[in-house]
Amino acid sequence: MRTPIYAFDLDRYFHPDRFERIKAFASQKETPCLVMDMSKVIERYQEIDREMGFAKCYYAVKANPHDEIIRELSKRGSCFDVASIYELDQLLRLGVEPERISYGNTIKKARDVAYAYSKGVRVFATDCESDLRKIAENAPGSKVFYRILSDCSGADWPLSRKFGTHPDSIYRLIGLSTRLPVEPYGLSFHVGSQQRDIGQWGFLISTCKYLFDSAREFNVDLKMINLGGGLPAQYLEPTAPLSLYASEILRFLKEDFGEKLPEIWIEPGRGMVGDAGVLVSEVVMISKKSQTNPYSWVYLDAGKFGGLIETLDEAIKYPIYVDRRGPSQKTILAGPTCDSVDILYEHFKYELPVSLSEGDRVYFLSAGAYTASYCSVNFNGFPPIKTYIFEG
Ligand SMILES: *Cc1c(COP(=O)(O)O)cnc(C)c1O
Repeated sequence: MRTPIYAFDLDRYFHPDRFERIKAFASQKETPCLVMDMSKVIERYQEIDREMGFAKCYYAVKANPHDEIIRELSKRGSCFDVASIYELDQLLRLGVEPERISYGNTIKKARDVAYAYSKGVRVFATDCESDLRKIAENAPGSKVFYRILSDCSGADWPLSRKFGTHPDSIYRLIGLSTRLPVEPYGLSFHVGSQQRDIGQWGFLISTCKYLFDSAREFNVDLKMINLGGGLPAQYLEPTAPLSLYASEILRFLKEDFGEKLPEIWIEPGRGMVGDAGVLVSEVVMISKKSQTNPYSWVYLDAGKFGGLIETLDEAIKYPIYVDRRGPSQKTILAGPTCDSVDILYEHFKYELPVSLSEGDRVYFLSAGAYTASYCSVNFNGFPPIKTYIFEG
């Protein structure tokens, strides 16, 4: 009799006692919900701080903007990367000083630049002439960093060609900046989210070196490299430990810049909060499409519109835990809404116990990033999932 209930080792995620306590905490809550283990966020922040001491940490708020997470990271000295004036307002409401906030979205309205400037933000990302001129006009004197295009190969959740621009265009933007009231400050890139190929940083860091050198033709001394996000959470596909990411990235930096490194930033989102989240759902219905079809369909009360949008193309494969034991079978997992997109995993078949029943709870581990913040508000009438902070 085979008993592979979960094709992963729970110990890699939580000490069994701790996981029992999280389950007990969640048992008092309606599903679907997201439980964030705050001590895991703190541990991760400290680990990043320790392993990547060469970098200043800007938490990418969009990954999980829960107030308590922002408060905790703020208390510990983190800086923040915001994508909009709404995230900015949230941070200011929570007492984060504008000096610790970087406006990292390259897509912004002129009036949003002006608003951020009026609130004290003085660092902006940019990747085109139009945006650069908006910054110069509405946030004069600000520092700008130029985002390099990356093809994001090797990433499980690529950001592809939407952001950044070719190094030649950056060279031109730097030249233009010398004639505008902005301070050309540094360069940024994003290797793609959940990047499992550490070498991608090496390639982009070399591009940074080339641009640092070229900028001197305009008498511009760039001072900063923003290494972006990409640090992984632990899903089913294995990744290297953070310490290896840190040592390799540092090696790439030293290869190109020697011992005297420029100011280095990192912007972890997924890598900061992913592993701390457990998304708790319930089996609504189990059915078969025909008597001869070998696969059961398991419909959960959490789906693509209820926090699990990163199952698009089955890109992110969460470790899934259930309490039942015994023989298992391959299943198809789907969400509760009346939209056929709302299938979680159809090609990749999770092995779940044959005894799994309606009303059972199904736990998605490492679901702390891009879940609650990605929920639809009212699709089919389902409310967005609630987040609960576990402090046990
Ligand atoms: C989304 C985003 C991040 C965070 O990326 P992760 O892969 O989740 O760490 C960092 N920087 C910028 C500019 C982003 O847009």
